[in-house]
Amino acid sequence: MRFGLTDEQKMMQEMARDFALKEIAPNLKEDEANHTFRPELVKKMAGLGFFGCGIPEEYGGNGFGFLESVILSEQIATVSGSWRLPFNMQNIGPAITVNKFGNETQKKRFIPDWISAESFGFFAITEPNSGSDVASMGTTATDRGDHWELNGQKMWISNAHVGDWGLVYAFTDKSQKYKGMTCFIVNLKGNDGIVTAPINTKLGLHCAPTGEIAFSAAKIPKDSVLGEVGQGFQICMWQLNNTRISCASGALGIGGGAIEAAIGYANERTQFGKKIGSYQMIQAQIADMVAEHEAAKLLVYQAAWLKDQQLPNQYQTSMAKLFASEAAVHAALDTMKIFGSYGFSTEYPAERFLRDAQSLRVVEGTSNIQKTIIAGMAMGDTVNR
Ligand SMILES: Cc1cc2nc3c(=O)[nH]c(=O)nc-3n(C[C@H](O)[C@H](O)[C@H](O)COP(=O)(O)OP(=O)(O)OC[C@H]3O[C@@H](n4cnc5c(N)ncnc54)[C@H](O)[C@@H]3O)c2cc1C
Repeated sequence: MRFGLTDEQKMMQEMARDFALKEIAPNLKEDEANHTFRPELVKKMAGLGFFGCGIPEEYGGNGFGFLESVILSEQIATVSGSWRLPFNMQNIGPAITVNKFGNETQKKRFIPDWISAESFGFFAITEPNSGSDVASMGTTATDRGDHWELNGQKMWISNAHVGDWGLVYAFTDKSQKYKGMTCFIVNLKGNDGIVTAPINTKLGLHCAPTGEIAFSAAKIPKDSVLGEVGQGFQICMWQLNNTRISCASGALGIGGGAIEAAIGYANERTQFGKKIGSYQMIQAQIADMVAEHEAAKLLVYQAAWLKDQQLPNQYQTSMAKLFASEAAVHAALDTMKIFGSYGFSTEYPAERFLRDAQSLRVVEGTSNIQKTIIAGMAMGDTVNR
């Protein structure tokens, strides 16, 4: 058993941290206030090879795996939770899924453009009336002979209004229940039947675009199907088990960022003639935050490592996502407490950590859903795959 990072992994860690501090941090306050998404930053991240993990070199892969992706995105999220999202949209979501289920033509056509950020990716599962219960979705795809026709609405979709090619899940045969769902590779741009709109009411992740997609008799080509017709639910669950690890690494980053801020403030702020960090109650808060953070890190790195070994990992991935996102929320809340009134101010970063961390309790399966998965496997009702 080996717990240390290799020199190469440490180098990647430093590179991502450096990027976040130089390229993201200087404009972050203003960008957060104005909800600014900077496409050029995604392209720069692509230029540094951030999105090639887990992808064969022939499609633009960088020779690294899930563990390296986690290490990179954790560092980005330490500075900004918003800027972790492109890892899922360009790499861990659509690209890795198409690499697993796509045919050769699809792999060559789509994966390199996601990895290089020529094309902004997305994956559309959630709908206004369908979230955790994915099989209750209402979007349909009807075979019209020479094309598929998409109808329905997707909601809370990252990159919706900035996205190019991505994955859309729809029912091709509702009577077959979850066996009647199919995954399609769809371009959101230049299609008369597709309308996208941003959601501007988000509590956090202000630099990460989120929106809605409406399909009304949207024509998409026959060769848009990923995998087999009727394989969509299986593909969706496989994809979520991967995108979940990226969320977990985001939580790790946000928690780490909050802890750094809390320690910095505790060592600086003086009350009753002493640094507040010298008081044992503040030290106890910091000790709890750090211990939870380190436990989360072990779970997240373990799950990523299992993925790279192609070993069963759903159980560990769900535990990592659950534990890391809950730990990030605890860390952000305690950071706010340590900052006192300044923790309640938007001038200081503590409240942003909380707003961003909360999103990770929800996305890619809520904490309740992770508990359902974990309990099912712990109790022997379902198998860890
Ligand atoms: C910032 C952001 C980005 C997102 N990006 C994407 C994206 O890119 N693509 C995409 O498809 N979706 C995306 N989502 C949607 C997200 O994945 C869903 O919101 C999430 O799956 C939960 O669905 P819901 O909101 O409909 O909640 P619901 O499923 O309605 O759940 C409501 C509550 O009930 C609980 N609950 C539901 N079922 C059970 C159960 N069986 N047992 C116990 N408790 C239960 C939940 O835990 C939750 O507390 C995003 C959401 C946000 C906030």
